[in-house]
Amino acid sequence: MKVVLKNLTKVFPNRNKKIGGEVVAVSNFDFEIPDGKLIGLLGPSGCGKSTTLYMIAGLQKPSSGQIFFGEDDVTTLAAEKRGIGLVFQNYALYPHMTVKQNILFPLQNLRGSDKLSKDEMLKRAEEAARLVQIDELMDRKPSELSGGQQQRVAIARALVKTPRVLLLDEPLSNLDARLRLQTREEIRRIQRETQITTIFVTHDQEEAMSISDMIVVMKKGVVQQIGEPQEVYDNPLNLFVARFLGTPPINVFKGRVENEKVKIGDAAVFDAPGVPDKNVFVGIRPEGFNLDPEGPLELDLVGIDVMGRDISVITKHEDSLNPSIRAIISADQKTEVSGGSVRFSVKPHKIFVFDGETEERIYL
Ligand code: ATP
Repeated sequence: MKVVLKNLTKVFPNRNKKIGGEVVAVSNFDFEIPDGKLIGLLGPSGCGKSTTLYMIAGLQKPSSGQIFFGEDDVTTLAAEKRGIGLVFQNYALYPHMTVKQNILFPLQNLRGSDKLSKDEMLKRAEEAARLVQIDELMDRKPSELSGGQQQRVAIARALVKTPRVLLLDEPLSNLDARLRLQTREEIRRIQRETQITTIFVTHDQEEAMSISDMIVVMKKGVVQQIGEPQEVYDNPLNLFVARFLGTPPINVFKGRVENEKVKIGDAAVFDAPGVPDKNVFVGIRPEGFNLDPEGPLELDLVGIDVMGRDISVITKHEDSLNPSIRAIISADQKTEVSGGSVRFSVKPHKIFVFDGETEERIYL
């Protein structure tokens, strides 16, 4: 089921009466989510991810704009009639019910022509439990399960009605690091198996990048960029997106374009044919540096982090926006790093230049 958002906007009155005015939580969100894909809605706290998800779910009413599931306009349709499965961060299981009863619950509430026989309900509940691999735990209470298992029950409960769209709001936030990794792989597998169009909200860029077919990066209610994770990482449209994606983060310097050269301090690090002189931000991915005794960029050495196959060379520069600069190079080159400073050249496809005022990308 494709999901179409047309100029979706949500404005809240400001709760702080002294300040007054309005909060634009989501502004003119336009996107056609292709059928059967997993979409990661990504951005820092307060950027409007949850509000977008709740409007799709029918839990929040849009201030303007429309939402379609396939060809159906569901903008004003009640949440329970939309055919969605919802999973929250805090599982929200009924503590007094067993796993089986929790999963059965949404089916027992079906009325009219949707009503199912007892056998059919049980069959569906068992299928959903098998899919998320908790079929051995059906008689336990939620308190007798690990966090990861509880979240699987919540996912099974969301899937049991075979929803048209699956909506996940920070579903991994309450899990420890290992379970997060494992459960996100599970979500990916389940989504692939069921082919249900899924929207996954997270503030964790690595999580979104690793499981999504496409990511949507938001900032202050406004969509910044939509695309396949690798494509957005390799081709950020603005400084915000470049900084938001990547661990370790992109290294950003205050720089200038002068005489068609990109300069950091006095070092001309790159050609900028046709670009007029102006202030810019220069972003270099950690994997974008080459150790090069003849290289134009000289940075003050702070230390080296050994990471196994690679090392991270940590340096400083007075025009760096990041407190320290990280360059990731092969561990074989460790012996080449010594003394008070290191010289680098930069890989052309790993350097991005952004306008100093608008922070939009300048294409070189
Ligand atoms: P988080 O990751 O912290 O949950 P988010 O990206 O999901 O953040 P939203 O919860 O969608 O962000 O909130 C977007 C903006 O709308 C924020 O500025 C928030 O304070 C505001 N907001 C959300 N709900 C309401 C509400 N009911 N009344 C007023 N303002 C709200």
